[in-house]
Amino acid sequence: MAVVCFLQPVGFENNICEVQINYPTDEVLGDWACATSLTLKNKQKDAEIYTANNYLDLIDHPVEMADFTRFEFNAGNIPHTMTITGEHSTDIDRLRADLMRICKHHIGFFGGSIPFDSYLFLTLATSKDYGGLEHKKSSSLICARKELPALEQQEITPEYTRFLALCSHEYFHAWWIKTIKPASFHELDMSCENYTEQLWIFEGFTSYYDELSLLRTGILSIEQYLTLLVPTISRMHKGRGRFKQSVRNQVLMRGRNFTTR
Ligand SMILES: [Zn+2]
Repeated sequence: MAVVCFLQPVGFENNICEVQINYPTDEVLGDWACATSLTLKNKQKDAEIYTANNYLDLIDHPVEMADFTRFEFNAGNIPHTMTITGEHSTDIDRLRADLMRICKHHIGFFGGSIPFDSYLFLTLATSKDYGGLEHKKSSSLICARKELPALEQQEITPEYTRFLALCSHEYFHAWWIKTIKPASFHELDMSCENYTEQLWIFEGFTSYYDELSLLRTGILSIEQYLTLLVPTISRMHKGRGRFKQSVRNQVLMRGRNFTTR
């Protein structure tokens, strides 16, 4: 993540940034490539040079450098790419087709107005992890490799559903938090944590639509969707938190204590 590599240059935040990534020379690293939504300025024999409009722009573009699988598709006339890093045996054609349906759904959901000119899903497949982080024209995803669709697999498994819901969630955020956002997020103060009382709107709506869109695209049947929804409703009814504090206070506590999807 760029924010942990590049400290804020106080007083120079609005300057254009340039990042040079040198190709590794060590053969142990194998077939190495670079994937990022940063703007490529120059590709040389032994390096790639990328630019960002300013510091805030720079830290909103994760960079993947690895020997990864890469595939492309179009949605709304916008080029989309996914990379998968780590051991996996994914049915790429199936994943591409399902992702395309989800992306087209979200583009239509937000009225066809697309806030990016390209989009990149960066996926890291491990033995058991799960999570994601949205960016304005990309998302960083981590999943267990069993959540990726295997070549011989026909049915949609709960694990693959979980991965598609994660992709759906982070892609939805490209509109719903990266473009449409709380007033306090428009002028971020990078010297401290920035809170909002509206996380329940931005995370809550995103979580609702990440799975609902799988039903609307026909990836899930109504029975499969309700099977996902029922435990969520049960959990909500069993929990007592809603009698103790407002959703506004709950999201403030969550924001202080946990990272979110
Ligand atoms: Zn989220």
